Amino acid sequence: MQNKKCRMTNQRKVILEELKKSKEHLSADELYILVREKLPNISISTVYRNLEALSECGLISKLEPGKTQKRFDANVKPHFHIRCVNCGRLDDAPFVIIPEIEKVIQRFEASVSKLTGYDMKGYQLEFLGICPKCKESMKKQKTEQ
Ligand SMILES: [Zn+2]
Ligand SMILES: [Zn+2]
Repeated sequence: MQNKKCRMTNQRKVILEELKKSKEHLSADELYILVREKLPNISISTVYRNLEALSECGLISKLEPGKTQKRFDANVKPHFHIRCVNCGRLDDAPFVIIPEIEKVIQRFEASVSKLTGYDMKGYQLEFLGICPKCKESMKKQKTEQ
């Protein structure tokens, strides 16, 4: 499945570099702003297309959290995320997938596949919460009232 003819064009290189540098889970729009500083003539649709291509060859992962915008992740190792239900911020959950858990997930995947008839392509686990920034501003709002 890997490296389905992934031509590394200059555009893709820049997009990948910017995503890695940011260490965040950026949406295509956010990445577009960063990439435009290096490639002023690039269009948003080109950024989109290249992001899709990069995720297809496994160089980045595509995240589709809840109802929010698609985000992209330079970290392609299996890891979990935590999302703020208030502002949509997405962070890596510092949670190590130990072999025991991986085994459980594999068993879980196998049974889901059996029951639904789907071929499994992976999984996403997302923790939900209120991020520190939102928590802070909520606290402030309360004391101001
Ligand atoms: Zn938040
Ligand atoms: Zn991540």
